[in-house]
Formats: sequence, structure tokens, C-alpha cells
Amino acid sequence: MSKLIIVGTVAFDAIETPFGKTDKILGGAATFIGLAASQFEVDGAIVSVVGGDFPKEYIDMLEDRGLDVSCLEVVENGKTFFWSGKYHNDMNTRDTLITELNVLADFKPVVPESYKDAKVVMLGNLHPLVQLRVIEQMNEKPDIVILDTMNFWMDSALDDLMKVIAKVDVITINDEEARQLTGEYSLVVAAKKIMTMGPEFVVIKKGEHGALLFFEDEIFYAPALPLKEVFDPTGAGDTFAGGFAGYLAKTEDYSFGNLKKAIIYGSALASFSVEKFGTERMINLEKEELYERIVQFKNLTQFDLSE
Ligand code: AMP
Repeated sequence: MSKLIIVGTVAFDAIETPFGKTDKILGGAATFIGLAASQFEVDGAIVSVVGGDFPKEYIDMLEDRGLDVSCLEVVENGKTFFWSGKYHNDMNTRDTLITELNVLADFKPVVPESYKDAKVVMLGNLHPLVQLRVIEQMNEKPDIVILDTMNFWMDSALDDLMKVIAKVDVITINDEEARQLTGEYSLVVAAKKIMTMGPEFVVIKKGEHGALLFFEDEIFYAPALPLKEVFDPTGAGDTFAGGFAGYLAKTEDYSFGNLKKAIIYGSALASFSVEKFGTERMINLEKEELYERIVQFKNLTQFDLSE
């Protein structure tokens, strides 16, 4: 089992979907990533920042899941990152209503000494310069560095984002963002173009339509499980990334074949995340449930060519 570094926001979210509305609840990219990765009982550390307004019980909950929170900085006189979004009726698209960086604006990440040799680095969504500073603090090159980002950073910090993209092995990005980043409509062409920017593997997430993994000239497709109820897609992408990174940290195999399995685990975990608002479903997820869902994924696409 490899050590895993998780970078990303630990946040308050206020979410509106066609099924309801929340006040400020626990959210953030690193939170969803950590909860998903903790399913694999990996040795994971969260590098992030919150304000004095962040409840200690949330930090305790992350610690109870086996995550190292010693580098989750608390700025007592600051406010926690806040994001608010509203989903459209199809739940596949959303508008960001508010992004308040707060303590994230001046955040200087510090990788714990004991994690500077981590083999897997999961750069969750936050400012690309913070992501870059984390890579720079590693003692040696990790076996795999995975980057997740979003249009917000393409719009506000593209030059810095390109520097990070050049240094990672895997990028996970949604279809709309892949098109924005490359100016290409075809996702096959977009993925090829992204490979020339740095990453060897490109994962393009397509919401309820699954995810594509590109490597050299190969493409693998992981479906999203068709669900009876989807309450809140927030964090699905981060949960996917956390499952992907957690599975790789557990198995220590970075071949294309194993990355295929990793995106199936990521998709299975994301399918739980959307069943309840915020992090609720992920906090209460049992290992047996994950296993059952992996079997469902297998059955969803398996067929016999010889018949
Ligand atoms: P996802 O639905 O996977 O895109 O992730 C949503 C989560 O990302 C929410 O919990 C937000 O707190 C967090 N988030 C939203 N915008 C940003 C941003 N610009 N940078 C980092 N995290 C963000």
C-alpha cells in the first residue's frame, strides 16, 4: 500500500437541486476525495486549509476515517472556502452562484515530512499554484500524480494551470472542460491534444454518461450506473478521483489495465455520492455496498460475443 497525498478544498457548500436546497454543509474537493479514498484504507493525508468557522467535528470525522489531518491548517481568524451552486433540471449542468476563496486566497501548502515520499499524489481542485507547490515539495518523483481541475481555474489562472498540467501523469477533467482547454469538439482529438501538454493518461468525465480513459491510441469506457434517484451530483467528480487515486495507492500498479479498474472503482463510488446531499452518503458507506456495486458495474456491460 502506498502513501497518498490529497490536496484540494475543504469547504462549505450551499446547494440547490430540483429536489431541494441546503444551507452551508460540509463539502470541498479534498473532503470528497478523502472519503472515497478511505474506502481502500489507504495511508492518506489531506493538505488543505479551513477557517476558524469550520466545525471540529468535521475534522474529527475525517480523522475517524483514517485520514491524516495534521496538515489541514486552521486559520482561526479566517473564513472557510465557500461555494454555492444551482443545478438545472437535467442535473448534468449547474451554475456556480458563489465562489468565496476566503482562507484559500493566501494558502501556502505544507506537505508533512512523513508524506514527502508518497508514491501517489492526488491534486484535487484548487488554485494551480497550490497544486504546483505540493509537487515541488516531494522528495522524489511520485509514481503517479493525478490532477483534477475545473473551468473556474481555466478562466482565472490558465498559465499556472498549464504549468501543473505539464507535470502530471493523469488528468481528470469533464467533457465541457476538455473542450474549453483544447478548443476541440471531438473528445478523442481533445484527449490527444491534452496528452501533448503533459499527461500520459487522460480521463474525461461525462457525468451521468460515464467516463473515458485515454492512453496512447487506446480508449476504455466506464459507464455510470443508471440510478433510480439522484439527489445531488456535487462532489461526484471528486469522489470519482478519490476512488481512482485510492485504488491505485492500494494496488500500486500503474498499468493501463489497472487504471481501467481504477476508473470503475471511481465510477462506483461516485454513484453512491450522488444519492444524498453533500457528503452524507459517503460518510455512511459500507465496504460490502461498494463490492455489490462493483459487481453491478460488471454485469452492466458484460456480454458474450460467441452467442
Ligand atoms: P464537483 O461536483 O466534483 O465538481 O465538486 C464540487 C466540490 O468542489 C464542492 O464541494 C465545492 O466545494 C468544490 N469547489 C467548487 N468550486 C471550486 C473551485 N473553484 N476550486 C476548488 N474547489 C471547488
